[in-house]
Amino acid sequence: MCAKPRIVAIDGPAGSGKSTVCKQLAARLGFVLLDTGALYRAVALAARLAGVDWSREAAVVEVADRLVTDGELRLDVDPEARQSAGGTKVVLAGHDVSSQIRKPEISMGASRVSAYGGVRDALLELQRQLGTPSGSDRAGVVAEGRDIGTVVFPGAPVKFFLTASLEVRARRRQAELEQKGESIDFEQTLKEVALRDEQDRSRKVAPLKQAADARVVDSTGKTIDEVVAEMQRVVEDVLG
Ligand code: C5P
Repeated sequence: MCAKPRIVAIDGPAGSGKSTVCKQLAARLGFVLLDTGALYRAVALAARLAGVDWSREAAVVEVADRLVTDGELRLDVDPEARQSAGGTKVVLAGHDVSSQIRKPEISMGASRVSAYGGVRDALLELQRQLGTPSGSDRAGVVAEGRDIGTVVFPGAPVKFFLTASLEVRARRRQAELEQKGESIDFEQTLKEVALRDEQDRSRKVAPLKQAADARVVDSTGKTIDEVVAEMQRVVEDVLG
């Protein structure tokens, strides 16, 4: 057993480059990537598929509870899946929904449903389980989200808060969507990113907030490589 949990907690707003950085950092360190946003996205999708409007809190919480209790929501943290272009494979009731959950409307839905305390409670234990992998994955975990360093793994020995200017974040989001074949107007992307920020920061339950002991990394004007290298140095320094 390791004395220190080998967890790297990475929080930050939408479009901060978090998902790309986390994927690359996890690969370089040989750690499992735990993409917690994928879980909120999956709940939003599951609600939609069940015909439950995202505004109906109790019904959405019920959907989340059922998914967790019935073991219907799985993140494939298999090393092969980790290296695939889409990142983490998300399986909902036996179906691979990895690309479906990345659609812009599901991003908005994830932001809506993640504001519900009951949804966050339902996903908390699941995130902790997924963050304690066994076997060959004992090496460590890179967990990314909005409240990893503050709520999910407050005892993580390494915490980062990754950020970038709003404009840079919107440009990245647009490029990411274009890569997936979705063409979307820049002004609209800017608005969506700003709105999501607002929703994530102002919600009463677990708002996006920097942990007091997190290291802030501003990726504006830096390449992904530079950011990953900077973070890798810190992780190796702390975890040895
Ligand atoms: O990181 P990603 O953009 O995939 O997350 C989708 C949404 O899920 C975010 O906008 C945020 O509202 C929510 N989320 C959260 N807590 C996390 C991860 C994501 O509230 N730990």
